Amino acid sequence: MIPITLSWFVCLYLGIFLAGMLLLWGGYEVIRRYGYDSRGRDHVYCRICSSRYTDSSDADLLHCPVCGSLNERTAGKKV
Ligand SMILES: [Zn+2]
Repeated sequence: MIPITLSWFVCLYLGIFLAGMLLLWGGYEVIRRYGYDSRGRDHVYCRICSSRYTDSSDADLLHCPVCGSLNERTAGKKV
């Protein structure tokens, strides 16, 4: 068995933990960008009834066709 001190064990533990968090972060970032590119600006997700609908107008507030609530266009805002 390899002798290891407590401080090295803590450093090793933190390094592995941080590497795992970095991998998760990068993975979620890739998924988020890929999802944004495939959905684009025209697809809106209703926060009340959780239905998805498309709207190609340029308005920022959109009426949901299912429940009629107003939803803000969030993904891919034109700056
Ligand atoms: Zn709705």
